[in-house]
Amino acid sequence: MPAFLVVLDVDSTLIENEVIELIADAAGTREEVAAVTARAMNGELDFAASLRERVATLAGLDAAVLADVRERVTVTRGVPELVAGVHAAGGRVAVVSGGFHEILDPLAERLGLDAWRANRLEVADGRLTGRVDGPIVDAKAKADALRAWAADAGIPSLGTIAIGDGANDLVMMAEAGLSVGFDAKAPVRQRADVLLDERDLSLVLPLLGLGRPALPSSFPV
Ligand SMILES: [Mg+2]
Repeated sequence: MPAFLVVLDVDSTLIENEVIELIADAAGTREEVAAVTARAMNGELDFAASLRERVATLAGLDAAVLADVRERVTVTRGVPELVAGVHAAGGRVAVVSGGFHEILDPLAERLGLDAWRANRLEVADGRLTGRVDGPIVDAKAKADALRAWAADAGIPSLGTIAIGDGANDLVMMAEAGLSVGFDAKAPVRQRADVLLDERDLSLVLPLLGLGRPALPSSFPV
């Protein structure tokens, strides 16, 4: 049975980007979308409503641009070390995102993550419809994911660690045994157990009492 579970947010945590802004670049709505994202991450807007509003600006975009967006994502420093270090200690690493499966799936596979959950963009006739397909992964859904993954693995809530930067991470952070605000926005800075301001996720390892593993040079990033 795994000893513990680390759950990370994706946008601005696992990766350096906000994926919806990269997609909005292609739609010509980046400025508008970035402004709404910043307000949502500061806790000024309801996440689900703000996501619907942002995704609506993407209507009509050729779904083929998602392949370019995947190429533009930058993984945050220290992620391969964090994953390897947690796995070596018998733990699990999962991510939950208010972003999109279309971008996250190949990345999560490449990084060897144990589980992940995100939103899905609705596509019709090869174009984004401007709607989200299925229920939205909001703050509560992030906490639900953490709880479900921990229960599946028989890990008590004290054995869970939640890492995030935005207001939609606060519910899962409250649920976790240890919460880490990663280069976090104001609402998270007030409530996280620990703040990590250097953008290097391998620094989570010493917080868990774990060393930094030596990685094979072929380790994918
Ligand atoms: Mg985030």
